[in-house]
Amino acid sequence: MSRRSVFIPYRPKTILNKSKHVDHWFWTRYSAYPYIGCQHGCEFCYCRERKYAPYEAVDDFAYVIKVKENAPDLLRRALSRTPVEMVFTGDYQPAERKFKKSRQMLEVCLEMGFPVFILERSPLVLRDLDLIQEIHRRARAVVAFSIVDTPESPKSHQVREIERLSPPASKRFEAMQVLATAGIPTGTCMMPILPGLCDSPENLEAVVRWTAEHGGQFVLASGLTLSDQQREYFMDFLGDRFPALLPLYRRFYPPGSYAPSGYPWREVALRIREYCAGYGLPDRMPRAVIPGDKRTMNKRLVETFADTCYALELDDAPAYKVWAYRKAAWAIEDLEQDIRLVYQQLGRKGLQSIPNVGADLAGEIETWLKASESRDRPGGLQ
Ligand code: SF4
Repeated sequence: MSRRSVFIPYRPKTILNKSKHVDHWFWTRYSAYPYIGCQHGCEFCYCRERKYAPYEAVDDFAYVIKVKENAPDLLRRALSRTPVEMVFTGDYQPAERKFKKSRQMLEVCLEMGFPVFILERSPLVLRDLDLIQEIHRRARAVVAFSIVDTPESPKSHQVREIERLSPPASKRFEAMQVLATAGIPTGTCMMPILPGLCDSPENLEAVVRWTAEHGGQFVLASGLTLSDQQREYFMDFLGDRFPALLPLYRRFYPPGSYAPSGYPWREVALRIREYCAGYGLPDRMPRAVIPGDKRTMNKRLVETFADTCYALELDDAPAYKVWAYRKAAWAIEDLEQDIRLVYQQLGRKGLQSIPNVGADLAGEIETWLKASESRDRPGGLQ
C-alpha cells in the first residue's frame, strides 16, 4: 500500500541561501526553496543526505513534507538586502498544488525584479507560466528539466522504477516544448547519470535528440554522488529491486567515496559533447543576460573561463590549470567594477590587480576584451 504524505507547516527564520561562489553550472549563488522533503522521492536523490534532510527515518524524506509557511515574506525581506542576481527557486512537487508557495515566491521575485532559475521534474511548473514569462520579460527566467532517459531507452522501465513518484520523462519533454514555444529558455539537466542505466551511447544520444526536438537549448550532465544515509538508502534500494546492478555500483562507489571512482566519466561527457554538437546544442548552460546589469561583461568572461575549465577537464588537463581558470573566474565574479573600466584605466596592470589573475591570464583577458569590442551583443540566453 502506498504511503500517504504528511505536511508539517512551520516558520523558519531564514530562506535565502548564499553560496560562497557562483555555481558554474546554473549561474546561481542564491537559492530559496519552500519545502523540505520531496514527494517525487527519486531513489538516488542527494537531498536525502543528512545536511539536507534532517529526518530520523530516511524514508520520511518523500512523505513528510515541511512547508515553509512564511516563505514569501522571508524571501521579500532577504531580497531587499541582496544584489539583483539569479535566484535558484521553485519546487513543483505535488504539495505545491495545495500550498502554492513556489508561486508566491515567484511573485516576490517578479515584484523585486530578480531573475530566476528553476530545475524541475514536474510539468506542474507550467501552471505558473504567466508569472515565469513576466519575470523573463523583466529580469530573465530559465527553466530546466531533470531528465536522464527517454521512453526509447531499453532501461526506461528500471529508471521509471527509480523515479516512480515523479511524472514520466515524456511529460517533462512536453512541458519543455510548451516553455520553449512560450519563449522561455529551457533545456535538460541529465542529472544524475546512473551507471549501467543511463550511460549507453544510445540513451545519451536520445536525450540530446529529444531535447533538441522539444525546443531545449542546452544539455548539462553530471554524475551520481552518494553520501552517508543517502548512500545506504540507495544501495539498499538497488539490492532489493535491481540486485544485478549492485556489483557495478559497489565498484564505482567503494566505501567512503562520494563521487564515482574509476567511472569513465570523461568518455560519457565527451559523447554528450559530440551528440550536442550534432544537434547544435551546447553541453553547458549559457548564462542569461540580466537586463540593466552593469557587470554583464564580467559575467560573460566568467562564463568563458568556466567553459574553459570544463573543456580542460574533458581534456584531462592537469588540475592546476583548471583551478587557475576557476579561481580567476571567482575573483572576476566578485569584482565590483566593470572589468572593461579596469582595463581602460590601468591596462594589463589593472587586470593583474584582480586576485588570482597573473600575467598569462591578464593577457588572455586583454585579448578577450579586444575581441568583445567587435561583438554587437553580449550573447548568452536572451
Ligand atoms: S525531484 Fe529532485 S529534489 Fe525531488 S526527489 Fe527527485 S531529485 Fe530529489
